[in-house]
Amino acid sequence: MTVVDLENVTFAYGEQPAVRDVSLTVADGDFLGLIGPNGSGKTTLLQLMLGLRSPDSGSIELFGEPVSSFEDGERIGYVSQQATSGGGSMPVTVREVVTMGRFAHAGHGRLTDADHAAVDDALETVGITDLADRQINALSGGQRQRAYIARALASEADLLALDEPTVGVDAESRDAFYQLLESLNDEGITIILIEHDIGVVTDRASRIACINTELYHHGDTESFVESDALTEAYGASGQVVHHHH
Ligand code: ADP
Repeated sequence: MTVVDLENVTFAYGEQPAVRDVSLTVADGDFLGLIGPNGSGKTTLLQLMLGLRSPDSGSIELFGEPVSSFEDGERIGYVSQQATSGGGSMPVTVREVVTMGRFAHAGHGRLTDADHAAVDDALETVGITDLADRQINALSGGQRQRAYIARALASEADLLALDEPTVGVDAESRDAFYQLLESLNDEGITIILIEHDIGVVTDRASRIACINTELYHHGDTESFVESDALTEAYGASGQVVHHHH
C-alpha cells in the first residue's frame, strides 16, 4: 500500500519555489530518510506530504486519499522541530499528552480501561514510564520526543513523521532514540525522518529522498550511497555532515 504519493508537487512561499516538481512515493513499512542542505525544502516537503500546506501545483495523496480531504489525523504522528525545542506554556503532564493521542483514536467520550492500558503500553514502549507524571515542559528534548512518539503510538498511528528529532540530544540518547525508531519500523510503522546527519540516515533508513528544492535522488539507501546525488544536491554548500558513532 502507498502511504504517501506525490506527483509533480511545487510550492513557493513567495516567488522562489521551496519545492519544485517533486514526485515520490512512500510505501507502507518504508523508513525514508529525507535529506538535503539547510533551506533545501525538507520541512516544507514534509508538511506538504501531511497536508499541513497546500501545493501550488501537483497532487498529493495520503493513504490513497487526496490529502485535502484526508481526515484520519490519528493515523499520523508528526513531531515538528518545535516539539523538541519547546512545548508551549500549557501545564500538562506526559501522561496527559499521551492520553490525548488515545482520545484521538477513541474519537469520543470516556476512556475505557483498555484505553488507559494502551497509554501505559505506549509509555513503556518508548521508555518513559517513570516520567509519566512530570510536566511535559520539564523534560529534556529527547524525552519530549519520546512523549510525542508515545502519543502517536497510543493513537495507533501508521505513519511517524519526524523533523530533526535529535537536535540538542546527546550522542548516547540519540543512538537509543534511533534504535527505538528502527524497532517501531520493524513492527510495521512507516517512518519519514528529516535528519541532517547523513551517517544516521544511511545507517538506519531503507530509502532516501535527497532534495535541494528539486529531488536529486529517491530510492533505496544502497543506490543512494553509490550515486552522485549527495554531492550534486549539496553542491559547494559545504553542509554535508558525517558523524561516525
Ligand atoms: P529545510 O527544512 O530543508 O531547512 P525549509 O523547508 O524549512 O528547508 O525551507 C525551504 C525554503 O523556504 C528556505 O529558503 C526557507 O527560508 C523558506 N521558508 C521556509 N519556511 C518559510 C516561511 N514560513 N515563509 C517564508 N519562507 C519560508
